[in-house]
Amino acid sequence: MADKPRYRAWFESLRDPNERYALDDVVYQARDGSLLRVVHDMDELRKTPPEEWKARFRERAHTTEWPYGSGVWGKKEWVCPEIDNANVVSMLEGLTNLFWAERYGSEIGIDDLWIKQCGNSHTGSFKDLGMTVLVSMVKEMIARGKEIRAVACASTGDTSAALAAYAACASIPAVVFLPKGKVSIPQLIQPIANGAIVFQLETDFDGCMEIVKRVAQSDGIYLANSMNSLRIEGQKTVGIEIVQEFDWEVPDWIVIPGGNLGNVSALAKGFDMMLDLGLVTRRPRIACAQAQQANPLYLSYQRNFEVFEPIAARPTLATAIQIGNPVSIEKAIAALKRFDGIVEQASEAELAEAAAHADRTGLFNCPHTAVALAATAKLRERGEIRTSDRVVVISTAHGLKFVDFKVRYHEMRLEGIESQIPNPPISLPAEYGAVRDAMLREIDRRFPA
Ligand SMILES: *Cc1c(COP(=O)(O)O)cnc(C)c1O
Repeated sequence: MADKPRYRAWFESLRDPNERYALDDVVYQARDGSLLRVVHDMDELRKTPPEEWKARFRERAHTTEWPYGSGVWGKKEWVCPEIDNANVVSMLEGLTNLFWAERYGSEIGIDDLWIKQCGNSHTGSFKDLGMTVLVSMVKEMIARGKEIRAVACASTGDTSAALAAYAACASIPAVVFLPKGKVSIPQLIQPIANGAIVFQLETDFDGCMEIVKRVAQSDGIYLANSMNSLRIEGQKTVGIEIVQEFDWEVPDWIVIPGGNLGNVSALAKGFDMMLDLGLVTRRPRIACAQAQQANPLYLSYQRNFEVFEPIAARPTLATAIQIGNPVSIEKAIAALKRFDGIVEQASEAELAEAAAHADRTGLFNCPHTAVALAATAKLRERGEIRTSDRVVVISTAHGLKFVDFKVRYHEMRLEGIESQIPNPPISLPAEYGAVRDAMLREIDRRFPA
């Protein structure tokens, strides 16, 4: 037997600290039906001074010392300490670039705007951060003799891509449930290519969620959705990484798109741990951005979070956040209250233009990031965000997973949207004179002398 690990973590009910489960128990909810959270032995973590944690995190980043070179596993003691390193399933997630969006920032009146490019990751979205932890725990559980036949999730496209890749890497069967016709072609082909069992159901995400919750009640099927709070442990590293990249300075605002609301909860949790362990001394404000078409959190915010009502999410270009009944609503509202948070929304036209304008400055945004960018611009206009504030927008996925909406934008075929800055390709016969004339005309038009 290996030594008893020094650092420990367990599942705990949100309401009753006496209701605890081991992280290798197959359990997703507390007895009262609320979500569980992962709680760490903070007394043990506190024995290491903040400067030592900082040094350790810095030294491990990008190294090949398995598995600590990953942005998630470089913080293993804070994330999921009791997993054997041999069972870690990692594809070097995290440590994504933090981009100073100087030009886009100056267009919307923010001098110090940064974009955390979580989409520059193995499967092209931040979902990798959480999935590495969940699939590693499953591998650990199998090694400990637990009966797990497959991992399963409902998805708006990115969770299933991440699950399929990590499960394939670990040789664990994966089953994914997608709302038919509601995910992009790249998102659909990812789990297909990685060999997952892919179901497309005639329903929306919330309908797929209902199915997978039932499927995961028996037959040794392990649930990989973010109601499983193991994912949150990996995702919470994003905030730690941002602060680390700013040499441990906390930004004024972090803007993050929200659907099922696991990610906003995770972001807050990372900051709570840094505060608790003395790595930082203040909180940023958090703004959660929703698509107007799928805005249950926004509606609740309008009523001071006193009530929350699920809605039927309407179609939006931001398909990954087309969710009307978010699983992590309770955690998200608590997080926003702690972080002096606000919720903003963006219409379809606002998100499409935000994506196009930001792309013009060299970015290549997914529609969910565009929702956050549009919300950021609105918060600046309203004076919530000030010109000199340091603002970080969390970009959740790579734009290449969502090219269809860009194609339609530039072909001026987005329904109900008049593209303000379309840039269709110019078709000409291959004749030097005509090409040169057109080229010089376009250069003059776009960059007048
Ligand atoms: C999953 C996802 C979101 C939403 O995250 P939640 O945790 O569900 O709020 C946003 N953007 C992209 C690209 C996603 O894949």
